[in-house]
This record gives sequence, C-alpha cells and structure tokens, in this order.
Amino acid sequence: MAASTASAVETVPILSGGKWTELKTKRAGDVFNPSTGAVIARVPFASAEETGRVVEAAAAALPAWAETPVVERARVMFRFRTLLEQHFEELAALVTREHGKTLAESRAEVNRGIEVVEYACGIPSLITGEVLPNIAGDVDAEAVRYPVGVSVGITPYNFPFMVPLWMVPIALTCGNTFVLKPSEKVPLSAVRIGELLQEAGLPDGVFNIVHGDRECVDALLDHPQVAAISFVGSTATAKYIYERGTAAGKRVQAAGGAKNHLVVMPDAEMDQTVQALVASAYGCAGQRCMAGSVAVAVGKAGDPVVEGLVNLAGSLRVGPTDGNENVDMGPLIRAEHRDRVAGYLDIAKQDGATLALDGRRDFQSNSFLIGPSVVDRVATNMRVWKEEIFGPVLSVVRVADLDEALAIGRQCEYGNGAAIFTRSGFAARQFSRHYSAGMIGVNVGVPAPMAWFPFTGWNRSFFGDLHIQGKESIQFYTRQKVTLTRWPQSDDSHLDPVWRQSKGS
Ligand code: NAD
Repeated sequence: MAASTASAVETVPILSGGKWTELKTKRAGDVFNPSTGAVIARVPFASAEETGRVVEAAAAALPAWAETPVVERARVMFRFRTLLEQHFEELAALVTREHGKTLAESRAEVNRGIEVVEYACGIPSLITGEVLPNIAGDVDAEAVRYPVGVSVGITPYNFPFMVPLWMVPIALTCGNTFVLKPSEKVPLSAVRIGELLQEAGLPDGVFNIVHGDRECVDALLDHPQVAAISFVGSTATAKYIYERGTAAGKRVQAAGGAKNHLVVMPDAEMDQTVQALVASAYGCAGQRCMAGSVAVAVGKAGDPVVEGLVNLAGSLRVGPTDGNENVDMGPLIRAEHRDRVAGYLDIAKQDGATLALDGRRDFQSNSFLIGPSVVDRVATNMRVWKEEIFGPVLSVVRVADLDEALAIGRQCEYGNGAAIFTRSGFAARQFSRHYSAGMIGVNVGVPAPMAWFPFTGWNRSFFGDLHIQGKESIQFYTRQKVTLTRWPQSDDSHLDPVWRQSKGS
C-alpha cells in the first residue's frame, strides 16, 4: 500500500446550506484509489456540533421546499437527469477511481442511479392522494401525503453513486430536505451528486452532505430535527442505526448485509448457469449485497457446477481498473479488506472445505487485488457458509434435493436475495414460494429490483418496515393526513337541482 501523502491531496468538502466548506475538525481519513493503492483525498470526520449545524441548514430550507409545487420539484429532477446523462462517462470514471470496480460495472451503477431519478420525475402521479366522497352523510374523506421532514441517508462504500440515489431523488421530490452521510471510503461521487443538483437549480440547503464516522452518525441519529433515516450497510451497523434511530422517535429503514444462495438443479442449462453464477459471485469483486456467495448444487449438478466455475472464474482477467477497460474483475476497496477475504480461504481449509480455486497470487501491483476463489464441499457449520465475506469467494454446498436446499436456506440468518437455476416450473415455483428471502431470481443470478420496485430484504438483511425504492419509498418519505369535511347547509338556491331534489327541497 502506498504511504499516505495527506498534505498533497485534496480535502473533501461538506455541503451545508448551499455552501461548500472544509470542516475544522482534526479527525480525518484517507480515500484511496484501489487500483493504484494511492491516497487520492482526505475526508474530514465531522464532530457532533458540526453535524448538528448541517442538520439545522436542512431544517431551515424545509418550509420553502415543502411548499414548492410538486411539479416544480419534479422539474429539478428532469434537469438533474439531463446533467447526469451529460456527465455519464465522467461519473463512471469517478466511481471506478474511488471504488475500484470495472468501468463497465461503474457505467451500470450510474445507469441504476439514473433510473431512480427517472422514477422520481413521475412524482406528481406517484404522490397523489385518495378521496372518498360521502363516506358518511354529507361527509367527504381525503387522504393526502405531506413531506416527513429532514431526512438523512447513511450509505455504504460498495455503490458510491447508486445507493445515495436510491434515496435522494425520492426524498427530495416528496418535499423533504436531505443530509447525506456517504461512506468515508468513497465520498467523491457524493460530492459530484451535490454539485450537479446545485447546477440543476435545487435551492440552497435542500440537499446537504456531511462526512464522518460514528460521532457524526450518532449526532444524526439523535438530532431532534431529523425525522427519517435511510441506511444501507452491514447488518451490525444496520441494527444499531435502526435501534438508536427508532428509540429517538424517527422512522428508520436500514438495509443490512447478505449471504445469497444460488441453487442449481440438475436439469439447469449448465453453461448459462455457470456464467450467471460467475457474474453474480465475482461481479464488483463480490462486493455487492446481491452477490451470490453460496452455490447450492443439487444432486448431479455438483461436479459440473464446480468444474464450470473453476474454468470460467479462473479465466477472468483480474487487474487495476482505473483507465483500463481490459479487465473483468477489479481490486477490493482496501488492502485490509483484501487480506480479510484471503483469511477466509485459510479458515475454510481449516474447517474441512476444499479450495477448488484459490484466488491468492502475487499480482506485482500496489492495487488491492485478489483473484476469484471457489470453495467446494462447504457445510453449514463452517464460517465461510455463515459469515458475509464480501469478496470474490463462492462457496459450494452439495445437497441431495430441493427440500434440502430450502432447509439450509432456512438456517441462513440473512434474507436479501436467492436464485434458482432450473428448467422445471414446479421447482422454480416451490423455490420462490418457500425460500426465506425477499428478492428471488429464477434463472437470474442477481435479482436486484430496479427503481420501480422495492429492495425487499428479509430477516437480518433489513430492519424496518417500508423498504427503499419503489412505491414503499414514497410512503417512507411522506406522512399522510386524512381530512373529513362536512359543509353545513346554507342558502342552497344556487346548488345542483338534482341534489336539492334528493334532499326533498
Ligand atoms: P458499513 O456498515 O461498515 O458502513 C455503512 C455506513 O455506516 C458508512 O457510511 C459508515 O461510515 C457507517 N458506519 C460504519 N460503522 C458504523 C458504526 N459503528 N456506527 C455508526 N455508523 C457506522 O458498511 P460498508 O462496509 O460500507 O458496506 C458494505 C456492507 O453494506 C455489506 O455488509 C453489504 O452487504 C451491505 N450492503 C447492503 C445493501 C442492501 O441493500 N441490503 C446494499 C449495499 C451494501
């Protein structure tokens, strides 16, 4: 790893009340380019007091923004979308630079983020209320949605651009103001989001960014002017955020970690299945909450699955991604994370599994690289089966039949995604009905919903009620008001004659 060159690199600013400023705090972290191992920026960690001031800026901007007609709020998103298209390649390159995923993966990430902006452009249709005239004698009922208030987003490192955009466009068009606390490992994409929102004409203070670690997060969770918190990250942190945020009276949606199972039936189309497994397990170097991390091979599928995985994964081109398109899999986020992932291969061996493909090799590079690994004959008492590795390691469990595959799925503490590969409609139906996870793929290796559908993690992959994205996100970022109206009868000479007749007058 390259030595920190803190004085030579830029300091990442915060955005508060429309102004970009540098924090005074002395505590800060390094931002790396995982392809080169070099420090590319310093990110300051806001104190509780500094964090509070950012929340207050968002609170000050709330009344005017909440009163801004919804069509105008949508128009800011239309302009924002145009800017994102214009800056598409620059944004993808920035994601690759601070995260390390391939340029193709960064382009896909930017596209997924833009889709949420497109969804939010439809807010005037999405946010309409309900009316029921004459719910009781001469009484009309209407339910309408109001902004919930200052909303906070706390986001992980693995999608620096997309995950903030899971939240921001919808929260803003619903009439809320927002404070984003991006991952301190990848704060640069968030800064570009802020700059482009300003260019799109978003009023000062409506969108704000603060950087930090636990002190900053705690200040956001406790602040009395924060109404709603959206979190995406590891399960331990998600649980903490959910418990502390709800204890402070806020609504919280907290998406956590995952351990996604990919079940391969003996009748699956094997070449396509292996390709889907490799894309699922090793895409973004396994750093996706929807990455397949356990292949469950049923019956005779075991040998061809392992053989196919070893061949195809072994042929992936692994290397630095920044400025280099001829790579299939990039580095991990940090050297320490790469070493932690490598450590799981030793643990797997000690626990009795077989390393069918060992991704550890000397890449002669400062890049945080490790190749893809396949661990065969994994059992449910092993740590590689239980724990989220979040790297390019695919464990293979061999089972006798679908019932056994479903049974081991029930032992998994997580419940984000799961997929089945089969030609049997019956097996697919059994699986999608009975597997304990919120997002199911049938011959689809990464069943991640797009903007129009909620990201429905189950079990310890999600804490809360209303999920991120789709219609549930509109519910999350609004509160309803029901009004019952009765107008007393007065001089009705000008009123509808049919109505007068019905009243006998
Ligand atoms: P993380 O939990 O370490 O960090 C996420 C955010 O929480 C960051 O902004 C970080 O600064 C903050 N944070 C970290 N520790 C904290 C603490 N103790 N107190 C308060 N705040 C804290 O997660 P990560 O390593 O950045 O991201 C990877 C994880 O995110 C994986 O577990 C992955 O599965 C998960 N993830 C889940 C989803 C989903 O939709 N379920 C999507 C993407 C990533």
